Amino acid sequence: MAKDLSAMRQGRDKISRPTTKSPTAGPVRARKILAILEESYPDARVTLDYKNPFQLLIATILAAQCTDERVNRVTKGLFRRYPTPKAFAAADPTEMEEAIRPTGFYRNKAKSIIGCCKMLVEEYGGKVPRTMEELIRLPGVWRKTANVVLGNAFGVTEGIAVDTHVTRVANRLGLAQSDKQDEIEQQLCGVVPKEKWTLVTHLLIFHGRTICKAQRPDCPCCQIRHLCPWPLRPPDHGSPLLQSLSGE
Ligand code: SF4
Repeated sequence: MAKDLSAMRQGRDKISRPTTKSPTAGPVRARKILAILEESYPDARVTLDYKNPFQLLIATILAAQCTDERVNRVTKGLFRRYPTPKAFAAADPTEMEEAIRPTGFYRNKAKSIIGCCKMLVEEYGGKVPRTMEELIRLPGVWRKTANVVLGNAFGVTEGIAVDTHVTRVANRLGLAQSDKQDEIEQQLCGVVPKEKWTLVTHLLIFHGRTICKAQRPDCPCCQIRHLCPWPLRPPDHGSPLLQSLSGE
């Protein structure tokens, strides 16, 4: 089956990158950034609801171009209705489409999920495989989904999951310079210690959701602004918080 979620799963923002490489770019700066983000977001984790690797796999496929909150609302009933890979594999495509419609791109997602579950049942005994090579054979599963499942459900570190938040924040921070997910993953793996590969995704996502937003990043209040070379960053004195603290 063709992997027809390809285009929508790229989910690329328009990227604004630092024009010159920061002199402090590299592993040392990455470690400093991670240390601050870890302190800021101690609860950074997957925000999709799941009880086992299979549920995380399905939820992650559904999360393409959709918020985790909406996916969680859908999977609550979905996992009751289809409790096993076998049940998903035998699902009526039209009924599956209706069940997952709120997550968007529901026709492609239904096709991928049913195809994925058929392969799980027919070739993997109904179990989610634990290697990147096997996972990316499944319809609808690319490196990002495989990294999410491996890192969070199995504790296996193969790479770094890159979504739209990671793409944007990593580029602004100069930790990556690309709009291609596979290149960003490689560049991040080059500066982030391997034991942090799963965590860094959550940290950049949490930071992207709360501070380094796509449209209006709150740079003046950003806790890592002194480590950020993004050229479009407004000056620190623009912060209402800092202004009030300094009596301006
Ligand atoms: S300073 Fe601004 S652009 Fe840089 S990480 Fe913080 S919010 Fe993002």
